Amino acid sequence: MICILCVLIIFALAGCKPASDAGAAPIKQPNTVTQQGSYHTLLVGDYQGTIAIADMLSRGNFGLGTYADLDGEMILLDGQFYQADERGQVKQPLLTTTTPFATVCFFTPEHASPITDPIRLIDMEIELLRVRLDADKLYAIKIKGDFGEVQYRSFPKQSPPYKPFTQVETFETRFTQRNVSGTLVGFYYPAWYGDLNADNFHFHWISDDKKSGGHVIDAAITQGSIEFCDMDQLLVMNPSPGFKRDDVVPVNEAEEMSRASEVIHEPLNTPSQASAVAPTDDIKDEPPRPGEPYPIPPRPEPPLPPKPEPTEDKSTEGATGLSHLE
Ligand SMILES: [Zn+2]
Repeated sequence: MICILCVLIIFALAGCKPASDAGAAPIKQPNTVTQQGSYHTLLVGDYQGTIAIADMLSRGNFGLGTYADLDGEMILLDGQFYQADERGQVKQPLLTTTTPFATVCFFTPEHASPITDPIRLIDMEIELLRVRLDADKLYAIKIKGDFGEVQYRSFPKQSPPYKPFTQVETFETRFTQRNVSGTLVGFYYPAWYGDLNADNFHFHWISDDKKSGGHVIDAAITQGSIEFCDMDQLLVMNPSPGFKRDDVVPVNEAEEMSRASEVIHEPLNTPSQASAVAPTDDIKDEPPRPGEPYPIPPRPEPPLPPKPEPTEDKSTEGATGLSHLE
């Protein structure tokens, strides 16, 4: 915005010369988040794929979302799409695979910091908003490192007529992976965007071995790095042109609840792997709030630091692993 104002001022001082004249200051290419579909249309049950993921690659190399028919959680990292299925297992989808909802950008970090002390994701989010992020702006965020625990989820593939997302959520399967290295791919959307996208922080997980991933519920980061960039603008592409509310039909709620009690009980990795993933059935229905104990029985070490006290003074850096955030 500052650069745009500079250009306008130069334009005015130059006697309204055309912008193409030699010497005109270049306009900074804005950091753009491109979004296919909206969170609202996803909530009401529009899971039809509307654009091939190959086309999304022209709009970003970093992002998240889902695939047609809610067939897995989408992770886009370093220009490669990954598809985490209902068992939390990851594969690389065909570029002809379509998506009803995806959020992507070209990730060019403007801020980076090491994470030197163990910290829960929710406490890191609080710290970021306290010392670094403007709660009313849009950000792309990447957290890479070693994780004491990651809790994540995925859904089974749906088929028409689609159920609303609130009913599909009852079919989710949760997983916990411990002592594992990987990356959280995410965005921060301010609340004023409403149902256009999931507000607040939204992360998808993928392990370094690219074998496991999903929508993040909670995480405990041992050490690593965080990078983020301010996104100047949001481009929203239209959702499915053929979607009608009539495509979503009511379902028998009792049957849904019965089926929702089914949980997959098979490990994703071989038992010999130290970071074996297992479905989680002992965690709360809702993610913990700040200050609540971590829902998984704590490991002997490392201990997680206490929640920082909120303060209005953003010039004061916190005492967590983000203390060197640049
Ligand atoms: Zn998600």
